Amino acid sequence: MDRHSLSTYLNEFLNVAKFKDYAPNGLQVQGKNAIRTIVTGVTACQPLIEQAIALNADAILVHHGFFWKNEPEVLTGMKYKRIKALMDNNINLFGYHLPLDAHHGVGNNVQLAQQLGILNPTVCENVPQDLLWHGHLMQTMSASEFNAHISQVLKRPALHIGDSSKPINTLAWCTGGAQDYIDYAVKMGVDAFISGEVSERTYHSAMEQNIHYFAAGHHATERYGIQALGQHLADKFGLTHHFVDVVNPV
Ligand SMILES: [Zn+2]
Repeated sequence: MDRHSLSTYLNEFLNVAKFKDYAPNGLQVQGKNAIRTIVTGVTACQPLIEQAIALNADAILVHHGFFWKNEPEVLTGMKYKRIKALMDNNINLFGYHLPLDAHHGVGNNVQLAQQLGILNPTVCENVPQDLLWHGHLMQTMSASEFNAHISQVLKRPALHIGDSSKPINTLAWCTGGAQDYIDYAVKMGVDAFISGEVSERTYHSAMEQNIHYFAAGHHATERYGIQALGQHLADKFGLTHHFVDVVNPV
């Protein structure tokens, strides 16, 4: 398919116009017009770009692209190398940040719920941009059981904070750097809150507000949305899709 059709389809499918974001959503670096092979990944880092080149990708789709607010505007150093590699190889780069967290089908939050077996994932109406979700477990678990479950599914140790004797059934979650949404989860009265990243203050916040908290990894919690988006495009338009997981322990 051609670049313009793909771009238009994605902007509509992901409701891009609806979001206020910290980076541009959509086509960020223009490449060739004809798109047959796409590579998806979490972050537009150099190893992802190199692997996409090796896979003859016509376009790369990521959750974390370029041109974040407050980053230097100039194309030097690491950023120059990444963008030069894309342009030398005529590869398009598409980035979708909050629209991909929030989407009700392929979004990071819905996809994480599916991976973890969280039932009835529902958006929390009091949080802007559909970024916080809640649901429940099929069976009540102890904190250590649930921690082991997360770590096994995401293939990465999760960090648990909270009173180990309190069982877990209801949950709220937001993937990535969403640790400060813990206060919304407290207001909702759920047993546990999951995000990707954690801060020093999160420990005290969880302990003093008597809620279980799990840091399951920024990268690990955001692997599934972009993958589902790539699969969706492959199914709908017959594109060849490769998901490339560049390991990141954070
Ligand atoms: Zn993120």
